[in-house]
Amino acid sequence: GDALAVSARVAPLGSRLVLLLVEDLTEARRTEAVRRDFVANVSHELKTPVGALSLLSEAVMDASDDPEAVTRFAGRMQAEATRLTSLVQELIDLSRVQNDDPLEDAEPVRVDELVAEAIDRCGHQAGTKQITMAAGGTAGLYIWGNRGQLAAALGNLVENAVNYSPARTRVGIAGRRVAGSGGDMIEIAVTDQGIGISEKDRERIFERFYRVDPARSRATGGTGLGLAIVKHVAASHGGEVTVWSAEGQGSTFTLRLPEAGSRGDRGVADGDDD
Ligand code: ADP
Repeated sequence: GDALAVSARVAPLGSRLVLLLVEDLTEARRTEAVRRDFVANVSHELKTPVGALSLLSEAVMDASDDPEAVTRFAGRMQAEATRLTSLVQELIDLSRVQNDDPLEDAEPVRVDELVAEAIDRCGHQAGTKQITMAAGGTAGLYIWGNRGQLAAALGNLVENAVNYSPARTRVGIAGRRVAGSGGDMIEIAVTDQGIGISEKDRERIFERFYRVDPARSRATGGTGLGLAIVKHVAASHGGEVTVWSAEGQGSTFTLRLPEAGSRGDRGVADGDDD
């Protein structure tokens, strides 16, 4: 009787162990597949501009007696070099946000400064497209986090809003404090009146290298890494990024991040007025 009881107890335990092992292996295999895809994607993305540079340099050599053509090819070489540089920079940024613990250098970060920086960063492009930028609700708000990473995240969202909007539209940036389960959170919402994103694509845009329209993304200097960086920064800060969108009408990306003062840090809100 005893032996039967024991084996009856062990059998389900055994099968659960096997199941756990299988799940572990599946998970490991999935991680490995994602890593392989990523390396393949990086290789492909690097090859494109390098291939173009190689062809263009040949064209320059062949056109050595035609100064106008040389200038034209050189201009295109410069454009390819620029896209290569921004791709490498974004890869460095991505690897940094994936590997560094942002909270090691955490400090209270002023939201109005982050917003001003982000607007500054795409001021030129917004100006060319006559896009109006408006910010509000950010005064007196502080996020607890890594200044550089937060600036990169918000900068990417504002840059996208400008990139994927037609001329003479408006990009709004709004800050506010909301109650979260683990303390107050700061929300920064970036709203555009751009092309919007379909429901199917909304599920995938945060993946590395995923673009709805690769040609359009390339034309605006996009790498397909921006939103992956934003997602990592938000998550590693204990926050999140969400998207609302209506095709043809526009999108709102909302960053939700822990407020400084709500996490046991010194809390600027309590009279630290340096
Ligand atoms: P990219 O460098 O291509 O902009 P991202 O990772 O920043 O890469 O964004 C991924 C894709 O999501 C973009 O290629 C674009 O198709 C879509 N997207 C991002 N932001 C917006 C937006 N504000 N409006 C419409 N589409 C957007």
